[in-house]
Amino acid sequence: MKRNVLVVANWKMHGQLSWIEKFVKELNRGLALETAEHLVLCPPFVYMEHLYRSLIGTGIRVGAQNMHGTSQGAFTGEVAASMLVDVGCKFVILGHSERRTQCGEDDRQVAIKFELAKQSGLTPILCVGENAEERAAGLTEVVIQRQLDAVLLHAGQEAFSGAVIAYEPVWAIGTGNSATPEQAQAVHAFVRRHVSRHDPDAAAVMPIVYGGSVKAANARLLAEQSDVDGALVGGASLVVSDFLAISEGFMSAVAR
Ligand code: PEP
Repeated sequence: MKRNVLVVANWKMHGQLSWIEKFVKELNRGLALETAEHLVLCPPFVYMEHLYRSLIGTGIRVGAQNMHGTSQGAFTGEVAASMLVDVGCKFVILGHSERRTQCGEDDRQVAIKFELAKQSGLTPILCVGENAEERAAGLTEVVIQRQLDAVLLHAGQEAFSGAVIAYEPVWAIGTGNSATPEQAQAVHAFVRRHVSRHDPDAAAVMPIVYGGSVKAANARLLAEQSDVDGALVGGASLVVSDFLAISEGFMSAVAR
């Protein structure tokens, strides 16, 4: 039996009200009842409440793509964790590689956000992963351990209790070049082992999801890996039929 399976849609900076309405309608039409509670949709901030309201009664939950590391104040253009909670948000993606590279977020800033998310009642989805050069240099585990340790240092030994980790190799995001199921499994097992050194109970149940060019065609094989508990899906989450097929691929592993 798999741990709690989660399939998370990261819509990034895509979507409009009319698109969201159509998406939700089609998703509900194609979705098996037992799958809904395993799905999380992460829209741009401005659509969060609208999406939350459209999903009431479906079991599908809503997540954010980011948040600020301070609870409130003079931070023009930013959004606080408490505001996300206020509009029905349950999850927050933190440390996505696009925010690390494009917005200069470092491990410590991500760790501060992680702790605040938990304190605010959000489930953080911490993204970790190496870039192509780091993998080629054999540094995958070094990089990921550094990213995990920053959170452990800031938020304590039990930081990962109730959290989700997403392994997202940077070289696989948006490239069509997914990690193989074996590559994903090896890193997921490493992540679980490392967390286990600090908090074995959390490590045993913590969902570790894979992200990076997940598609209908590779979802089932990824889902078969013992430490791959779901997916964080970018591009393919914008197409309802693809997102449904990916979700079904991972749900088939729940029964096993
Ligand atoms: C992502 O950006 O989190 C992601 C996994 O993107 P894609 O599925 O498009 O590779």
